[in-house]
Amino acid sequence: MTELELLVDFHKDAERQGPGSSFETMKALNLIGVDKNYKLEIADIGCGTGAHTIVLAQNTNGQITAVDLFPEFLGKLDSKAKELGLHNRITTLKKSMNDLPFDNEEFDIIWSEGAIYNMGFETGIKQWKSYLKTGGYLAVSEISWTTNSRPKEVEEHWNNEYPQIDTVSNKIRILEKNGYMPVAHFILPEYCWIDNYYKPIENRFATFLEKYKNSELAKNLVDLEKEEIKIYKKYKDYYSYGFYIAKKI
Ligand code: SAH
Repeated sequence: MTELELLVDFHKDAERQGPGSSFETMKALNLIGVDKNYKLEIADIGCGTGAHTIVLAQNTNGQITAVDLFPEFLGKLDSKAKELGLHNRITTLKKSMNDLPFDNEEFDIIWSEGAIYNMGFETGIKQWKSYLKTGGYLAVSEISWTTNSRPKEVEEHWNNEYPQIDTVSNKIRILEKNGYMPVAHFILPEYCWIDNYYKPIENRFATFLEKYKNSELAKNLVDLEKEEIKIYKKYKDYYSYGFYIAKKI
């Protein structure tokens, strides 16, 4: 098994593959102020197993195209959608987020939680803009510095992991620069990380290591996750996901 296959296997049984919550998804949706009677076209990019995709389907009258690179994640979302009778409203699509088969101005809303970093925030919002109708909304969560300065250790850690990490005000500036009107933003609170993401991860360590008989690759993956959790717990005042809601003008 490759490192990537292990990573997908480790995350596929989780409810979510990044920090977030149904409450915060609803908060973002309410800030857009969607008309429940209107049949919206929504793209959910980098959906993973789609915890938020389900929330979007349950709280809009939308038709949702949920995109991810990994069929293992999409399969989980398909099953959940079927169980809940939402399969007619959610179509999964195995595609890379930087090679999407969408038409110009196809969508009313482009949603993406904890995933745009895979292509980089600015490249992502630029490319995806063409798929959005004028007057349509982008709702995207992106790791961001929550203060003006921070200790060197955390700065180095994240600059190494994701050099595009930046302050909230700079993320908003990038939206403005690229023809979006920033409508609202908020910061994901701690429980989105600890209770909804890191605790379930920690609970899977033992069975995962057992499954792979303590292989070096498996141990390495667990160590990396542990390191990330340690950094979060120590420096959570300095960074989080910012949820950005912006309108294409
Ligand atoms: N939105 C989900 C998953 C976030 S994790 C949640 O909040 O729970 C990031 C997701 O992006 C993963 O599901 C991963 O498979 C997906 N991903 C990574 N690179 C991608 C790419 N190039 N194209 C599409 N999806 C990608």
